[in-house]
Amino acid sequence: MTVQIDQLVDWLRRFRALVVQNQALLTELDSAIGDADHGSNMARGMNAVVEKLHGESSETVDALFKGVGMTLVSSVGGASGPLYGTFFLRFGTSTGAVTALDAGGLSAALRAGLGGVVTRGKAEAGDKTMLDAMIPAVDALDSALAAGRDLAAASAEAAAAAAAGRDATEPLVARKGRASYLGDRSAGHVDPGATSTALLFEALAAALAGPAAAAESDSAAEPGPASAPDPTP
Ligand code: ADP
Ligand code: MG
Repeated sequence: MTVQIDQLVDWLRRFRALVVQNQALLTELDSAIGDADHGSNMARGMNAVVEKLHGESSETVDALFKGVGMTLVSSVGGASGPLYGTFFLRFGTSTGAVTALDAGGLSAALRAGLGGVVTRGKAEAGDKTMLDAMIPAVDALDSALAAGRDLAAASAEAAAAAAAGRDATEPLVARKGRASYLGDRSAGHVDPGATSTALLFEALAAALAGPAAAAESDSAAEPGPASAPDPTP
């Protein structure tokens, strides 16, 4: 199973849609332990990303994701802009000028993106940041692939691991970012960036869920008769 560039574009569109749907939640979480702008930061950034998708036909995966990363870095002022921007820039740098990724290529690109966030933000697991969702997600994808699962199943496991990692940030004391200024008072709140990262992997799982998901996204974009479930796995 390979991932076509159209599915990666679908991933970005789905991430935008989830960020916009959850904008108020992301902002509410950031109002508890930050400055109440994570929802607007992510919505502004992903809206800018998707607007550019309309304008230019992206031919290769590396060019697509380098463009996404630069757009996020330049359109989002908060910490999350450079961090997600670096994630996508490194993702793109890892793939080379291809139009599809196999499972190993997707895994390597996600791992490279994660490495970029670590290098840029200098946070570790347990610091109550987006890494607490991203690290378990990328690890879960790799474990599932190593166990012989296909990308649809592996990305679903990555999404579940990201959501569990997000939930596990609640009791943590923040050691990086604005929330760390609160010290012990940062405990008892879910981290906003871990919440948006869980959406990133939820979007990936939806984009890779197979032909049924593609049909669903087509009918969502252009309302029409409901399509029958696809019997192929
Ligand atoms: P800002 O903190 O500048 O207002 P946002 O509110 O958009 O930016 O994003 C905050 C999120 O960024 C946090 O919830 C956290 O997940 C993430 N974050 C902050 N600093 C770091 C870091 N050094 N490494 C990884 N993630 C970080
Ligand atoms: Mg903020």
